[in-house]
Amino acid sequence: MGIVEQVDVVVVGGGPGGSTTATLLAKSGHRVVQLERESFPRYQIGESLLPSTIHGVCRLLGVENDIENAGFMKKAGGSFRWGTSPTPWNFNFAISPEFAGPTSHAYQVERMRFDEILLRHSARTGVDVREQAAVTGVVTDETGRVTGVDYTDSSGASHRVLARYVVDASGNKTRLTKHAGAERIYSDFFQNVALFGYFTGGKRLPAPSSGNILCAAFDEGWIWYIPLTDELTSVGVVVAKEHAAAIQGDQEAALLRLIDRCTIVKDMLTDATRVTEGVYGEIRTRKDYSYANTKFWGNGMVLVGDAACFIDPVFSTGVHLATYSGVLAARSVNSVLSGAMTEERAFGEFEGRYRREYAVFYEFLSSFYDMEQSEDSYFWRARKVTGAPTADLEAFVSLVAGGFSKEAALTDAAAVVERFTASSQALTEAAAKTGGMDTDSGHRMNHLFKTPVVREVMEEMNAMQARGVMGSAQVEPPLLEGGLVPSADGLAWAEPDVVAVAG
Ligand code: FAD
Repeated sequence: MGIVEQVDVVVVGGGPGGSTTATLLAKSGHRVVQLERESFPRYQIGESLLPSTIHGVCRLLGVENDIENAGFMKKAGGSFRWGTSPTPWNFNFAISPEFAGPTSHAYQVERMRFDEILLRHSARTGVDVREQAAVTGVVTDETGRVTGVDYTDSSGASHRVLARYVVDASGNKTRLTKHAGAERIYSDFFQNVALFGYFTGGKRLPAPSSGNILCAAFDEGWIWYIPLTDELTSVGVVVAKEHAAAIQGDQEAALLRLIDRCTIVKDMLTDATRVTEGVYGEIRTRKDYSYANTKFWGNGMVLVGDAACFIDPVFSTGVHLATYSGVLAARSVNSVLSGAMTEERAFGEFEGRYRREYAVFYEFLSSFYDMEQSEDSYFWRARKVTGAPTADLEAFVSLVAGGFSKEAALTDAAAVVERFTASSQALTEAAAKTGGMDTDSGHRMNHLFKTPVVREVMEEMNAMQARGVMGSAQVEPPLLEGGLVPSADGLAWAEPDVVAVAG
């Protein structure tokens, strides 16, 4: 064992969840060590992002200019060939009140580049970032509370870092969560397997949807088609676990065979060539990725991102949940370390908000899969769909843009306040101009709004928007009953009455 160090917080993992947490803790003046097993840049899947990450979390981190200047593919929304209709439909983030105007886009990113930008920014903010530092276990005190971690560096030497909190952001292969008293529960509903690779020379959808993610359903499942650059496209097939046999054996043959069964993607790839060399040359598979832990914190540990939970690739919520939970975790650690409140109060807020976000997306995504089921399909179940009013469509896009919680940290707060004061008439006109969602899409979406949790959230969002239009949404209300609100700088929690008085 080398030198034993003592810091405020150890963050395990250099992905977006870890870098978000570490950066916000360092911004609050804490001594933070961030340990990453790999040497960056490293490959990761999860390339399609939401506006909430780009314009909310990245802004809070202070890294939005780096992201803006990185030249990533601009994503205006999503295109879906979903359900029984052969015609693809589009939604644009611009229809969401939180992300209308200059923030109405996200990016499709090569995660090697995106994650490295966040990690280097973390280091610039004052985090002690150590790569090729693989955490091998935790240190506990006599009560069983986690008080640090052991890690091995590139030479094989062991080190120990003690800390007041350990944040586990080490992704879906984490071995640490049990020390928080948590158990991973796999989803009964989402039991899919993904097979993915990269192509050059794939077609692009017509402008303004050329940077959109295209999700195209076929009988066994669906395919994502993500334009990463003008040349490079990420293509992944998602099938139900019972069809995993279809992706065994020769994986290139399996990928091409499944693509062949999906007319629209097959057409997009007519003149394309599969990348066979370098980091994008490998065909990869992922399974067992839909789960949530029974606890998100405990015994001095906090779980962030995939270490805590993940749902499914459809609607690109992974990085959103990872970075959002990073914000929530950092606020809680900051609030306890400053002595402002008890662990139970601060982390209760963390877990409550995180679970709420997860639950809404879980329910929403389940409905989305349900919608696709048809009699002659073993992947989708049939469901009848009808029309929906415009307000619900706006709410739908707010949700899939990552803005449903109405957290200022997830939007460009100043722009939102301005937009909330715009008349609903102007909003409707703007939506009409930007395309929003077409009528057919509205028909298809309607059943989602009948799902209890989604319905409730939509109503709440509409009510909050209405309050905003009335000019009374200057102080962010508590999201949970009896809960906390973000502090003025967004880096900690505060009791609602304290913020209201200060404001
Ligand atoms: P990660 O990005 O996994 O980062 C964890 C880091 O911890 C890694 O760098 C790892 O090297 C490091 N680490 C692990 N163990 C240790 C250790 N012992 N010591 C030190 N370091 C360690 N999300 C989207 O937003 N959009 C998408 O389009 C999307 N598509 C997906 C498709 C598939 C098939 C799957 C399975 C997921 C997809 N996701 C998508 C989800 C996305 O990949 C994850 O949610 C996201 O990467 C989680 O970020 P994270 O920071 O929690 O973990």
